[in-house]
Amino acid sequence: MILVLVAAMAAIQPPATKGEKVPPPIVDPGAYLGPAPIPADATFLFDGASLDGWRALDGKAAQWACEKRLGGSMVAVPGKGNIVTTAEFGDAQIHVEFATPVTAGEGQDRGNSGVYIHGRYEVQVLDSYQSQTYPDGQCGAIYGQAIPLVNVCRAAGVWQTYDIIFRAPRFEGDRKTADAVITVFHNGVLIHDHVRVTGPTGGAHGKGEVAKGPLMLQEHGHSVQFRNIWIRPLQ
Ligand code: MG
Repeated sequence: MILVLVAAMAAIQPPATKGEKVPPPIVDPGAYLGPAPIPADATFLFDGASLDGWRALDGKAAQWACEKRLGGSMVAVPGKGNIVTTAEFGDAQIHVEFATPVTAGEGQDRGNSGVYIHGRYEVQVLDSYQSQTYPDGQCGAIYGQAIPLVNVCRAAGVWQTYDIIFRAPRFEGDRKTADAVITVFHNGVLIHDHVRVTGPTGGAHGKGEVAKGPLMLQEHGHSVQFRNIWIRPLQ
């Protein structure tokens, strides 16, 4: 009887809140082998040395740090806010490399940042390596809307990659005729397969949805690093 009770209690998961409660399976993506090559037709959004091409949300100069270590990266500076590209795009292939800091925090307080396509749809950046939070807010989630198919996080301090195929929403005049559709590979592994996104996620920059928009990186109080950011416009 006691064994039955123990088994029943073990099966009860604590509430994860914010939607789905079952975390995705964990898959080891293998080692990071270095920065991805840059296709000849890509638009390079970060050269490793300056924040040219980025601005703060108020239109002023971006206040994130640039670091020469690790081949040149940009680092979110707590309190300095999100940054957006001056370039805008519609449909696009997007490549981003990131590394979360080593921290004692847990859940959402652990290497939190985000890649906001069009400044509106967040692919969550978080340290979800051996750390749990609500699944639609973990690393790789389309925040609040879609749980990654698998958790392929590498440990804090190790470079990781997002390769995103983004189809922008379609409009006829002011009326949206098709939702945005997002496919994401995290560390080379498929985590979202043509997911239809019904609208902006939390923390979006700008109102409504648009046919063309910038890329935004989130400053969420943690010193997350980014590098080798490029897009290939698809229209
Ligand atoms: Mg975030």
